[in-house]
Amino acid sequence: MKIIKTMFIVLIVSQANSALAASCEQTIEGNDMLQFNLKEIVVSSTCSEVTINLKHTGQLASNIMGHNWVLSKTEDFMPLALAGGSAGPSENYVPSNDPRVIAYTVIIGGGEETSVTFSLASLGGGEDYTFFCSFPGHYAIMKGVFRVIN
Ligand code: ZN
Repeated sequence: MKIIKTMFIVLIVSQANSALAASCEQTIEGNDMLQFNLKEIVVSSTCSEVTINLKHTGQLASNIMGHNWVLSKTEDFMPLALAGGSAGPSENYVPSNDPRVIAYTVIIGGGEETSVTFSLASLGGGEDYTFFCSFPGHYAIMKGVFRVIN
């Protein structure tokens, strides 16, 4: 009896790699475990606008485990996160009319999704940017690097 073994080569395009590819639209997920699924978001400077889709894949309500997506310069991230906590839930934990805020979404709860579209025009080269969730206590863990590449 002959046994013929056939080797299948399966090409798997991983989610993580596709997220690293520079695209003008990116989706990031937050969950009930205080985690974003991305540590880095890369967009191309050729994008006239960038859209970030935020999905909350958990089940907890927005007043318990709410998440948003806020973008600032890395040097502004900590003070802005603290100011956001003081702004309160009615302001989505984002200080209103604060020039340090480059873009932000509303706070969402489990099963919800939202998005924000913004221009890259104000983002200079050589600057470090950080995205984070400004729900009180979340920013220390729920944060990542936002990079603009040519
Ligand atoms: Zn959060």
